Amino acid sequence: MSAPTSQAPSLYAMTMDSRKCVGCSACVLACRAENAVPPGYTRDWVVKEIRGEFPVLSQVIRSERCNHCVDAPCVAVCPTGASFVDEHGTVQIDRDKCTGCKACIAACPYDARYVHTDGFVDKCTFCMHRVARGEDPACVSVCPTESLHFGDLNDPESSVSRLLAERKVTVLHPEAGTTPKLYFLS
Ligand code: SF4
Ligand code: SF4
Ligand code: SF4
Repeated sequence: MSAPTSQAPSLYAMTMDSRKCVGCSACVLACRAENAVPPGYTRDWVVKEIRGEFPVLSQVIRSERCNHCVDAPCVAVCPTGASFVDEHGTVQIDRDKCTGCKACIAACPYDARYVHTDGFVDKCTFCMHRVARGEDPACVSVCPTESLHFGDLNDPESSVSRLLAERKVTVLHPEAGTTPKLYFLS
């Protein structure tokens, strides 16, 4: 992750290049270890999709997680304010305020949240504890094919800004109207 050069507050986003992803699940294992995700749960996952019609078939592999949506329905429905958008545009959960009511789980179109064994709802945090130290998120840092990039949309020199300027991108379920900030490079 490059150091911020812009004056505006950092606005964090992630890109995922499904042409590079080999489905090794290193991102999933790194996230579990970094964030002490309980056994049987996960903050990120790998999807393998077959596209086309026989005999012309292709496989698309991608790593998914919370999209840190701009218009996040999980935040809108949270009755206690536990789910919130931070100053960098990432969607976070205050564990102390979370009652485990699951309204956010029902509202998320991406199935990105789960109830932690300690009772609060958990999901991808964009590893903000690492970002605060100037490090990439754990999943980004271990990807052997550099399929994942993380950075500041307000910095035109960040890798995510450059990739978004150079490549066509899609988001998952655009019809849900959540404006995701996890972009898939196509
Ligand atoms: Fe794909 Fe990289 Fe995750 Fe491996 S670590 S599954 S290549 S995104
Ligand atoms: Fe909320 Fe789901 Fe969007 Fe993440 S992906 S911000 S949990 S609606
Ligand atoms: Fe897990 Fe951090 Fe990657 Fe989110 S950004 S999937 S919390 S490793």
